[in-house]
Amino acid sequence: LPRDLYAPERVNSPGLAFGDSARLAELMREAAAAAGPGLAAPVIDGTERGGATRPVPSAIDGTAIGQVLEADEAAADAAMEAAARAFPAWDATPAEDRAACLERAAGGFEAHRGRLLHLLQAEAGKTLDDALSEWREAIDFLRYDAAQGRSLFRRPAALPGPAGESNALWLRGRGVIAAISPWNFPLAIFIGQVAAALMAGNTVVAKPAPQTPLIAAEAVRLLHAAGVPGGALALLPGGPEAGACLLGHPALAGVVFTGSTGTAKAIQRALAAREGAILPLIAETGGINAMIVDATALPEQVADDAVTSAFRSAGQRCSALRLLVVQEEVADRMIAAVAGAARELRIGDPRALSTDIGPVIDAAAKERLLAAIARGRQAARVHLAGEAPAGLYVAPHIFEIARVEDLTDEVFGPVLHVLRYPADGLDAVLASLKAGGYGLTLGVQSRIEATVARVRAALPHGNVYVNRSMIGAVVGTQPFGGSGLSGTGPKAGGPHYLPRLAIEQTATVNLA
Ligand code: GLU
Repeated sequence: LPRDLYAPERVNSPGLAFGDSARLAELMREAAAAAGPGLAAPVIDGTERGGATRPVPSAIDGTAIGQVLEADEAAADAAMEAAARAFPAWDATPAEDRAACLERAAGGFEAHRGRLLHLLQAEAGKTLDDALSEWREAIDFLRYDAAQGRSLFRRPAALPGPAGESNALWLRGRGVIAAISPWNFPLAIFIGQVAAALMAGNTVVAKPAPQTPLIAAEAVRLLHAAGVPGGALALLPGGPEAGACLLGHPALAGVVFTGSTGTAKAIQRALAAREGAILPLIAETGGINAMIVDATALPEQVADDAVTSAFRSAGQRCSALRLLVVQEEVADRMIAAVAGAARELRIGDPRALSTDIGPVIDAAAKERLLAAIARGRQAARVHLAGEAPAGLYVAPHIFEIARVEDLTDEVFGPVLHVLRYPADGLDAVLASLKAGGYGLTLGVQSRIEATVARVRAALPHGNVYVNRSMIGAVVGTQPFGGSGLSGTGPKAGGPHYLPRLAIEQTATVNLA
């Protein structure tokens, strides 16, 4: 394997043993000490602008934790124009210097850990465990992109050719990239998009999710402080209108998006309807992610992995387990084990270390989930229906369905569906999953190698996890992203992401 591409020289940020209570208490104190009002304004050419002011509510209890000044159409235009002006100089900046900016930013993220953890908890409602993993993932993206980009963009690749001719392949930035990111990983996915686009020589207009502008503003501050020029990275807090302005702007050279399949398609249509160049879209969307459990699987492991995958982060991950598919012979036992383990989960304030499930992101999300739960209660057998405390909390639910086709939509929360299959029915299940069109994460719990191989080969899913949980992809280790309704690829934190953000130019020189 080409080492520079597949294993660029760098290390992921170290983990933390959650048994180390002194260390955890220290982190909690660090986050609490870094509380204080946040501000997210449009940042254009390195300067904060005004905008319609709105308080940002905490996902924990709805109290205002800061203010967002939302960008209007004029700000969106100004951001695109500033980024277009800054592009030639940033693209011409040596790859080494661009990489150094990202690495300095990684150091800044480490130095401001308390503030970032505080915002991940207060703004997005993350448990400390989730906040810490996300903070680490953001740092890993910065270092991964820097290391890979340093070698990919430093000089052109020399290609073979006949005597008397030199051939070289150059990678160059595309221009202005719009980075449209979700609230469920408001730091890691935000940085995953922005760092890669910048490393490839592009300038970026970043539009964070309306629910989580404060953490994005903090990230942009740290990137600018690390040396990313003001013009190279603009922040555009706002709703879908701000996004629509970006998509229509003539300076746009491409879009990186994570969110729903429907929005990805709307972006694709908007890009197709434009005059001029055919613009690329990198979209990472959702999935109806299944875990296949056969009769040889270990029940304790299935319980642990299914509960982690379905309910951690309140199920608000696009990688989360949505459909547990269990072989008939062991189904009663497995489902009881999963429901039993899920019943033990603690729901509540994510700042408490004992909490497993924090709040969902906002009232609209809660309402959608309660509607899905009401449908589940009517249509299916109920294996678990917990009670949630008051606030934005939704208790874990487990519903049994009869056919893969009964689950048509991704339910983005702590709702798991289960399905039984007869011993000779695995191929039919796999065919139905394939026909559903999603292809993000897939779990397999089996001790039979041939079954694992058969399941993996039958489905096009981007991330396959065998005998383990199916969330928490690690940068450079489990490049993340799917196919079909789940996204366009390339995978985040993988070798092919940076090149997709660049244009390729071969130069052939006659030396004779
Ligand atoms: N990369 C995350 C994981 O592996 C999921 C990202 C997402 O939810 O968008 O769990």
